[in-house]
Amino acid sequence: NEENFKNVISHAKEYGFVFQSSEIYDGLSAVYDYGQLGAELKNNIKTYWWKAMVQLNENIVGIDSAIFMHPKIWKASGHVDGFNDPMIDNKDSKKRYRADQLLEDKIEAYKVAGDQQNAESLQADMDEALKAEDLPRLKALIEEHKIACPVSKTCNWTDVRQFNLMFATQFGAMAEGAEEVYLRPETAQGIFVNFLNVQKSGRMKIPFGIAQIGKAFRNEVIARQFIMRMREFEQMEMQFFVRPGSELEWYNKWKEIRLQWHLALGTDPKKYQFHDHAKLAHYANAAVDIEYEFPFGFKEVEGIHSRTDFDLSQHQEFSRKKMQYFDPEVNPETGKPYGNYVPYVIETSIGLDRFFLVTLVNAFEEEDLSTADKQDSRSVLRLHPALAPYKAAVLPLTKKDGLPEKAREIMDALKFDFNMAYDEKDAIGKRYRRQDAIGTPFCITIDYDTLEDNTVTIRHRDSMEQERVAIADLNRIIGDLVSW
Ligand code: ATP
Repeated sequence: NEENFKNVISHAKEYGFVFQSSEIYDGLSAVYDYGQLGAELKNNIKTYWWKAMVQLNENIVGIDSAIFMHPKIWKASGHVDGFNDPMIDNKDSKKRYRADQLLEDKIEAYKVAGDQQNAESLQADMDEALKAEDLPRLKALIEEHKIACPVSKTCNWTDVRQFNLMFATQFGAMAEGAEEVYLRPETAQGIFVNFLNVQKSGRMKIPFGIAQIGKAFRNEVIARQFIMRMREFEQMEMQFFVRPGSELEWYNKWKEIRLQWHLALGTDPKKYQFHDHAKLAHYANAAVDIEYEFPFGFKEVEGIHSRTDFDLSQHQEFSRKKMQYFDPEVNPETGKPYGNYVPYVIETSIGLDRFFLVTLVNAFEEEDLSTADKQDSRSVLRLHPALAPYKAAVLPLTKKDGLPEKAREIMDALKFDFNMAYDEKDAIGKRYRRQDAIGTPFCITIDYDTLEDNTVTIRHRDSMEQERVAIADLNRIIGDLVSW
């Protein structure tokens, strides 16, 4: 499994999906660039999310707020004081670790060794220490359980300290009085502070949602597992504003809707699970993660949180602007309108990059095609056709006799509707394999018969089956196959 994950990472680089940032300068840790095919896949994921959330729901609208925001916003949201990871340094190696991660790895090691008793007691002790934010206790646990440094083995630990995950920078010229601002660590706050702008200008009635896709930045103490945990990443978030008291009903609805969004791509449902939060953040009254089974275990891909009226109330207090909604509907219990209130919020928050990794891991296969007399295999990305970077590839059988010209004609007729690839280099079999490796669902082959009867061969990526169709039908056929 771990081996398979390594293959996914090298495949992503080899075919232009994901590159290490600043690679020629030896890279920048936990920052990545998307290559020519990665950018297409990422855009297609965004479109899938935006359509499902905004286009299909009349009561959800999308915005695009700025990354820089007034510094007070992060005071109000609790990020300045509470958005921390407990970290510990090894004085010898100068390496830094997340204290909770070291303990979790140890719990995992106990489990692997069959030591259920130590695993459970350490888990309980750690949970208690984290909840109480008892940093000396975290250090004591690391020492009691003789947790060695993952790299150097000798351990000379510092105390455990809180480390704020927000990146700060200077705003304006660096003159006196220049203010410190943060790169946003989540996109949600841009939605909360625009709640009334959108509600009023869009004449939105509760319940309604505001969605957005955008960059977020977190100075993660440890970066692991490729694009799972990055310092610069993208989120696709939606805040759904509801009447107080109805939030748990909506929470349960969104939980199901969001899981269906994942499953609609054809993923095996056994690869997904819900994970209820045992410890709730200070602002939440219910929270669940949607987890996917990566090669390294089930991990969070999306969070669904019932955030109460925490955020809007905090902004009301810090900005001294009313964050209320007037609800004209009549409450059947009192016979009077619901009137003014601060709405409650259900949030759905999915990491775009993390979901990108889900689609790659889930789609990648090294398929054995050996027969009795011949060894053979292929790398194939079984992406949902709607997510595939190229919808189809146009391949003239040979580079002569007018076949490339005919192929270009077909390409030109289709490229306004679909992102198309064109390839005339190498033998046709090799070209098929290359399209398999980048997830192109269909190859269109132009041969000598095409010049006679205006038909082409369509080859299907997954089944490798071929069929003969009329050029005139291509647009409709591809359209049917790549739509939802
Ligand atoms: P984790 O526990 O993995 O740090 P989180 O609970 O802090 O995540 P949220 O704040 O709920 O995550 O963010 C919502 C989503 O944003 C996550 O489900 C994840 O998909 C994504 N996300 C969060 N942090 C990162 C990161 N550093 N790199 C990539 N994606 C991230």
